[in-house]
Amino acid sequence: MQLTMVYIGKIEPSLIDHVKKGLRSKFKMPILIGNEFSAPSSSFNKFRNQYEADIILNELEKNFDDKVLAITSHDIYTQRLNYVFGLAKSKSKAAIVSTARLDPKFYKQPGDIELFKERLLKECIHEIGHVLGLQHCKEKGCVMNPSNSIRDIDNKNFDFCHMCQISLGN
Ligand SMILES: [Zn+2]
Ligand SMILES: [Zn+2]
Repeated sequence: MQLTMVYIGKIEPSLIDHVKKGLRSKFKMPILIGNEFSAPSSSFNKFRNQYEADIILNELEKNFDDKVLAITSHDIYTQRLNYVFGLAKSKSKAAIVSTARLDPKFYKQPGDIELFKERLLKECIHEIGHVLGLQHCKEKGCVMNPSNSIRDIDNKNFDFCHMCQISLGN
């Protein structure tokens, strides 16, 4: 098993590198850096000015034989939700995380690159957790807590709780 990281849109290489290092400390699998990936044009919803995450996930699944994580600057959504920070289906191959709503500036707060990077890494760990079969978890602080708002992300930490660790087989 290995994980390839790709990017869609404008993502700084230093951000990819930061996430790669963080994921490497959490998961026992090789992590490769891939190329830019193009979101299929059918994923763009011009009425919402957002991309439908499910369509991008399907395209990633088609193009990669093993696990793949896409980090995108595009704002993404899934049916019945106004937006998502990230998306992955349980025990699938592909995960996607959007940086669009992770920057404090999005909330009219002062820029904070460290906070931005923290949020991104938490969401990436969370989505890879789903890819590896984990469901949402209610244990306080567990990285598998659902993130419906930016506060939810800030209130959890980078770690899997004990039960999630066991489910992961770590
Ligand atoms: Zn989730
Ligand atoms: Zn947990």
